[in-house]
Amino acid sequence: MPDRAALDRLALDAAYEQAIKSRREGGIPIGSALMNPAGEIVARGHNLRVQSGDPTAHAETVCIRNAGRRRDWHTLTLASTLSPCAMCSGAAVLHRIPRVVIGENTTFLGREDWLRAEGAQVLVLNDPRCVSLMREFIAAHPDLWNEDIGVPES
Ligand SMILES: [Zn+2]
Repeated sequence: MPDRAALDRLALDAAYEQAIKSRREGGIPIGSALMNPAGEIVARGHNLRVQSGDPTAHAETVCIRNAGRRRDWHTLTLASTLSPCAMCSGAAVLHRIPRVVIGENTTFLGREDWLRAEGAQVLVLNDPRCVSLMREFIAAHPDLWNEDIGVPES
């Protein structure tokens, strides 16, 4: 029986790799991964808004899109480097993903309350790598970040 907490760390590591990949591409450094109960990563994704011009291309939504057609959503763990926004939480709720592992929620608090209310198990790991990645990005590109979360131009 695999150690659940160790698998959660591995899922978050896969998400973090995706966030770094996006940063290397000049994009928003948020990454996501889906893991099955055996501990295999079945899909990966990162934010693509800068790369593709698609404002809905958030990491978790891209990851769920990359997972393709399947019937095992109810067994999967969704990991994200950052607390999932309303849209991405919606995609997780729609597919009845039962477990959401979050790198951090200090730079942005998404709709964890809603995920919990819908019965998902939500784990916030407070990963310092994820916190510093977002802090550095927001400090360097405040406009790009505000655009990502729908804050009007000031
Ligand atoms: Zn999102």
